[in-house]
Amino acid sequence: MKKLILSASIAALLVSCSTSQNAPKPEPEIDYAIKYAATITEKDLAKHLFVYASDEFEGRDTGEPGQKKASQYLKDFYIKSNIASPLGGDDYYQEVPASFLNSTGRAYGLKDSENVVAFIKGSEKPDEIVVISAHLDHVGVKNGKIYNGADDDGSGTVAVLEIAEAFKKAADEGNGPKRSVLFLHVTGEEKGLLGSRYYVENPIFPLTNTVVDLNIDMIGRIDDRHKDNPNFVYLIGADKLSTELHDLSEAMNAKYTNISLDYKYNDEKDPNRFYYRSDHYNFAKYNIPIIFYFNGTHEDYHQHTDTPDKINYDLLENRTRLIFHTAWEIANRENKLIVDKPVTPPSKN
Ligand SMILES: [Zn+2]
Repeated sequence: MKKLILSASIAALLVSCSTSQNAPKPEPEIDYAIKYAATITEKDLAKHLFVYASDEFEGRDTGEPGQKKASQYLKDFYIKSNIASPLGGDDYYQEVPASFLNSTGRAYGLKDSENVVAFIKGSEKPDEIVVISAHLDHVGVKNGKIYNGADDDGSGTVAVLEIAEAFKKAADEGNGPKRSVLFLHVTGEEKGLLGSRYYVENPIFPLTNTVVDLNIDMIGRIDDRHKDNPNFVYLIGADKLSTELHDLSEAMNAKYTNISLDYKYNDEKDPNRFYYRSDHYNFAKYNIPIIFYFNGTHEDYHQHTDTPDKINYDLLENRTRLIFHTAWEIANRENKLIVDKPVTPPSKN
């Protein structure tokens, strides 16, 4: 003990001598994005996912008891993390009634469900909203087998939680995002993108002030195409409405995460048409720029074998950090993203 104290004090002396002999250096500029991205860790992602994709949640089928447990898990996380609800108080649920879920012609017999929402208010432009989304539901139990949906979309769900935590830490330390960030866990994706559709038809914040939707659906695995190059992710939609968004996303990746960004599925001619197949599309059709982050399909896609032990957590960490950096830049930059390639939005009738 004494020896330790002695060496520590010598070290302190040496440090003070060496600093006093040198000219004072200017304070290095801190890149806060790196500091907060570092709070997103494999360990935390795994901790959440082994619960969220456990048998206890019974495959999170929309409106069923397992999905209700999943919603409760998300709500409890935000309350514990002291991240507010945009609805006020401890109401983190945007109710999505059965009457809506069963009215779109895409699903029948569904019970009431809910989107789970949390919010960090912007420090300078609070009316401008950055949305980070993932679907909270999966396909439930079939033939007695639980479909855990660890990748689909447990991976995206826990990524949103970790990104929320990183923004919250920044806000608490006075480095909060200039724009507001909405963490949106949508229900009913597997039934036909229903929760996200409900959100855009009943938005909590005006769509005209919604700057972007970064949507995450399956980012914890590798597909066959990348067996030899696992440090990849498919990006879909980034350049469809806003060239600026695509460029910014590329720049953030080059600066911070160095992932091989694969645009195969961004090709309009690709027969999979993934751009139209997850929740982001409900935002894109109203001219809100989106990026869809996706690892492609694999042998466990929509099987009961999509379990949390098969997730590649270091990839999940790096991909989540890329999304955080992109969100951070969009939330903090001076100007709102420019939509240079608008589409005709659906008419309301
Ligand atoms: Zn999905």
